[in-house]
Amino acid sequence: QIPVITIDGPTASGKGTVAHRVADKLGFHYLDSGALYRLTALSALRRGTDLADEHALAKLAEHLHCSFQGGDIVLSQENVTDAIRAEEVGNTASKIATFPAVRHALVGLQLGFRKAPGLVADGRDMGSVIFPHAALKVFLTASAQARAERRYKQLIDKGFSANMQDLLVDLQARDDRDSKRTIAPLAPAEGAHLLETSNMTADEAVDQVLQWYAA
Ligand code: C5P
Repeated sequence: QIPVITIDGPTASGKGTVAHRVADKLGFHYLDSGALYRLTALSALRRGTDLADEHALAKLAEHLHCSFQGGDIVLSQENVTDAIRAEEVGNTASKIATFPAVRHALVGLQLGFRKAPGLVADGRDMGSVIFPHAALKVFLTASAQARAERRYKQLIDKGFSANMQDLLVDLQARDDRDSKRTIAPLAPAEGAHLLETSNMTADEAVDQVLQWYAA
């Protein structure tokens, strides 16, 4: 059995950073499942797809021409690593992620990331839906304030403009949508270890995950 570690949590909880570093330390592959929703959203925005048309969006998701090359994310031969991090794309991703057909269309792609010697997968439903038999499941949390600050730094570092108050409002709207949707609502998977990271550095969180995995 190829081992999987799932790291789920709300937006800007630090999942991406922690999951990526854990994967590096263990020499495992890494799946950023949120990127797949963001790629679908970017594709839809670019093509002018009706954002209420579940069927059309699911088709887009099913036929995403994307690849992950080192740290770069490529969509139909264009490097969209930074473009998919824009707030508009994240908000659209969170809206289209409420459609069952879109979620369903992305399942096969996500399962395909499980390759030897192992996988670290981050998202919302990695431990609950996609990899329910994962060797280790972690659910990260952090206060809304701490998460808004992290997102603010991320956006500024990528050259986007950002406003703390707007970010907090967006973040709460996204939390709300993610936790109240009827399909795969954001919640700790059965058997998940909870990790509250508001006052923790990414490296401390990584060490905790590695300790749990070794135990
Ligand atoms: O994690 P990230 O912010 O990049 O994800 C973008 C959006 O995609 C989230 O707000 C969430 O609604 C959705 N998503 C999801 N299930 C996942 C990963 C992301 O619904 N496994």
